[in-house]
Amino acid sequence: MLSGRVHIWTSDFVAAQQVRNHLVEQGIQVEIIPAGDSVLVNGTGVPPDFDSQPIRTLAGVKEVAWARPQMRPGTVTVGEITIGGGTPLLIAGPCAVESAEQIEQAARAVKAAGAHVLRGGAFKPRTSPTAFQGLGETGLKLLYQAGREAGLPVIAEVPSPDAVELYSSYVDILQIGSRHMQNTPLLKAVGKATRPVLLKRSATATLDEWIGAAKYVLDGGNDRVVLCERGIRTFDTDMRYTLDLAGIVVMQEQTGMPVIADPSHAAGNSRWVAPLAKAALAAGAAGLMIEVHPDPSSALSDGAQALTFAQFERLVRELRGEKKRKRAAAV
Ligand code: PEP
Ligand code: MN
Repeated sequence: MLSGRVHIWTSDFVAAQQVRNHLVEQGIQVEIIPAGDSVLVNGTGVPPDFDSQPIRTLAGVKEVAWARPQMRPGTVTVGEITIGGGTPLLIAGPCAVESAEQIEQAARAVKAAGAHVLRGGAFKPRTSPTAFQGLGETGLKLLYQAGREAGLPVIAEVPSPDAVELYSSYVDILQIGSRHMQNTPLLKAVGKATRPVLLKRSATATLDEWIGAAKYVLDGGNDRVVLCERGIRTFDTDMRYTLDLAGIVVMQEQTGMPVIADPSHAAGNSRWVAPLAKAALAAGAAGLMIEVHPDPSSALSDGAQALTFAQFERLVRELRGEKKRKRAAAV
């Protein structure tokens, strides 16, 4: 059974001990930690029917934060697609929408290869202000049209709270980019949206911080949240980021939310995308988001990590085990 966690900030060690006794009586494991001018009581293994109210009335209790186990059901639906239901979700497309021709070609190719959702950024949060920033609303329109023509729902990153309504009129899933994971006005705004949300992990976020960000969306009333692990910053410099496979495992277990992986941004190099994609699915990821471009060498953003159409098609076949079946049949 999934279990939750409770964090209780108290005024001093005497109050913390009282809280501790109360939790231990309910079979909850407890750790007491000094936290600035408070004493923090962390409880794990909190049962789903835990009632935090009696604790709130104990002397010296300042604040109680309780993460319910299984914060929401384990699947999210987008039209006909069920995310987290067993069939891995495949989101594919270019980093950015660059032209009608580029996104239409990409839409047709990824659909033919077996993708379920078309991606393409219209707003690109680039490290340098002089790098390509995306086509804005024009890009959204092109993405929408290409998706509809290919029969694919579409996803794009929404840049700000005031853009949520506009984006909701063009895209089927609202993406929160890693740089915006803790943009609380944006999280609150998509919490009120009618579209499902793909919440990318910040490259520097702990799992708890990621859960906190997801709670902003859930608390707004939008319970269609899918998480996306896209690599975190570690001491290694060969890969762009480090894909945290253990984070995928733990988050699916602790939150009940589907977690997909983005091996493209983690790898930063197309050579490593396929092995990371396979590893993520082996670790139980509910799907993948993969950057694919008609001509990666001329891409206006993230070309080094983009797969060609042929590479993507081959990866999907391999993920489905089709290559193996052909070999086996030949033997
Ligand atoms: C993206 O998916 O387009 C993107 C910018 O990724 P991230 O937010 O993970 O850097
Ligand atoms: Mn990109």
